[in-house]
Amino acid sequence: MLSDSEVFDLRPRLTALSANLWWGWNTDLDPVFRSIDPDLWTRVGHNPVAFLRDVTPDVLEAAQRNAWVLAQTTHAEKTLREYLESDRHWASSNAPGLQASPVAYFSAEIGVDESLPIYSGGLGILAGDHLKSCSDLGVPTYGVSLLYRDGYFTQQIDADGNQVESYRSLDADRSPIEPIRDANGATITLEFAFGDGSITAELWEAKVGRCSLILLDILDCAPALKPYASRLYGGDVDTRILQEFVLGIGGYRALRALGVRPGVLHLNEGHCAFAALEAVAQRMEETGLPFGRVAPYIVDSVAFTTHTPVEAGHDRFAPGAVLTALRPVIGRLGLSDEEFLGFGRVNPGDPDEPFCMTVLAIKMSHRTNAVSSLHAAVSRRMWQSLWPARRVSDAPVGHITNGAHLNTWVAEELSQLYADSLGPNWKHHVGDADLWRRIESLDDFDLARVKLALKQRLLDFVATREDERNQRLGLDDSPSEFRFDVLTIGFARRVASYKRALLLFDDMDRARQILTDPKRPVQIIFAGKAHPADEPGKAISRRLVEISRDPVFRNHVTFIEDYDKPVTSRLIQGCDLWLNTPRRPLEACGTSGMKAVFNATLNCSTLDGWWGEAYDTLNGFAFGEGRIHESEEAQDRHDALALLNVLEREVIPLYYDREDEDIPVRWSRRVKHALKTLAWRYNSDRMVKDYTMRVYLPAAKKLTADVRCT
Ligand SMILES: *Cc1c(COP(=O)(O)O)cnc(C)c1O
Repeated sequence: MLSDSEVFDLRPRLTALSANLWWGWNTDLDPVFRSIDPDLWTRVGHNPVAFLRDVTPDVLEAAQRNAWVLAQTTHAEKTLREYLESDRHWASSNAPGLQASPVAYFSAEIGVDESLPIYSGGLGILAGDHLKSCSDLGVPTYGVSLLYRDGYFTQQIDADGNQVESYRSLDADRSPIEPIRDANGATITLEFAFGDGSITAELWEAKVGRCSLILLDILDCAPALKPYASRLYGGDVDTRILQEFVLGIGGYRALRALGVRPGVLHLNEGHCAFAALEAVAQRMEETGLPFGRVAPYIVDSVAFTTHTPVEAGHDRFAPGAVLTALRPVIGRLGLSDEEFLGFGRVNPGDPDEPFCMTVLAIKMSHRTNAVSSLHAAVSRRMWQSLWPARRVSDAPVGHITNGAHLNTWVAEELSQLYADSLGPNWKHHVGDADLWRRIESLDDFDLARVKLALKQRLLDFVATREDERNQRLGLDDSPSEFRFDVLTIGFARRVASYKRALLLFDDMDRARQILTDPKRPVQIIFAGKAHPADEPGKAISRRLVEISRDPVFRNHVTFIEDYDKPVTSRLIQGCDLWLNTPRRPLEACGTSGMKAVFNATLNCSTLDGWWGEAYDTLNGFAFGEGRIHESEEAQDRHDALALLNVLEREVIPLYYDREDEDIPVRWSRRVKHALKTLAWRYNSDRMVKDYTMRVYLPAAKKLTADVRCT
């Protein structure tokens, strides 16, 4: 107990700490809140801003007298301060040139933490992981996105197995964001001419370690669009154009209004491609030079990452709608309507061709990147007609394979265990292949023990979720009786047809035999949201729910509602096997399997996306032989059979092979081999280093070499 004179005012200190999302991937602050009020900390979903809103004065008062709380708070302050002030990071020695010409990273969704719910899934989480690695490595980066007040939908499953969508409003007072203020303390609102009207947007900021995430909050727009403008992927085409206008045009204007002159524009997916046009328009206004002189020079500083070969992932707008919406911008660019539309068309002269944001992004960037080697090959074929004089193999589309942010996804218990083998500073060198070789010395029993504890935590979570759902639906079912000594498979991702969540159940009889084998049983946990407009996807989730409710599969199959970042974490940490069944070659990369690797969970997947280049026959399991069949039906039937075979012949025997021990020794060895061969490579530090050396630095050099567009 501390005396009055020793008590410091804890609230402002914790408020200052909670204002930087750094706490989302570092463990220093978490124990402070946990010890002040553990129940509240759980209730607010580990959101420090919400915690400080809800904590009662007497609880905080008591905490102020707790010497440990104060010491840990001081430690967190010191760690954050050193992190922010240090200039001894990777970029200071490898990319000093970027300090004067920072990267502007545009993305329609950026998922840093669940307390800032402005993302839907893989693309957004990847963007958040990218920004965190930029921060850790010291790559000066401004994230730019929209502040979706209603975010992405929350999923519930009704009594008939249907997905029910609802939108929860963001409470800015409970989120780690602040409006940006000018020198007089006033908030900053930008106004844009849009169509024949105008839009206003207020600027907000989230601090992501050393980086800043600039968010545009759409305040005023056409009344018909207003209800949807605040939803992520929840509106129609007109909403979409509006949002992409604000993201690209507004985003670039926001940076300039804040005094930022980016040296590199990174367009993460085509949604944000208008940003490049705004950069051209501004430079034309500054220099008085025409479009033809300025555009090639801006293009040299723009990088584009394409994320999917799936058609629905590429926005195509009716030419008339784009012309109306962008009328004022087209005027500033000094282009005719046809010239302008040509930038969004493969065949500029075809008046019937819609305006495609991906085409605009490709034409307005110096370099197009796919997100895995296979995806690059597919994208070259997909967009080859943009370069009719070139052969497919010469189409200028390269790749940088995605990565996941290790510190965000690794379980704390495992992280401590890895330190035994990798050394106390291992988290600062996660991209170092030599470091990960040392994982071989990890004790198999320790590894198995920690994994069992994580699995038990997952199973408790599953039981709680099932209980809540049963109560809500008025069912008197008891939760599944899942066991921690049973091989546990996780399958969680967006529910889309090509991901084939039902592949395992193609042959129901054989699936039942395999899962319910009394000697070597299997339990599988599904989760996933279908896009609100994707009816086939919704039918798949309905069928999954139906199977999970079938008494035959009781205690072997379940479906957890509302797949989100916290659900991902629990699953990848607690499962033994991470299953992925995309129809090759439609999974551009996939990142959840990388998060699984960090957590000593083995992958079993078709040879699609990242797994096509990562699998070495011993670091997990594969099925389908990397073949692409003539018809989808043939491919699905073949892969379904191959999946059951690999489970029956390889996965299950390996897991239950105990070599006279009571832990799966050979399984543990394979896990260590997976960590050794995969963790250093498929993490976002390696990805950001690749982007910096191959894309950002060359782009920034060109820009600074030629400031006046001579
Ligand atoms: C990682 C992640 C994804 C992406 O997973 P894929 O394997 O690429 O499908 C989607 N949603 C959430 C919430 C995630 O954490």
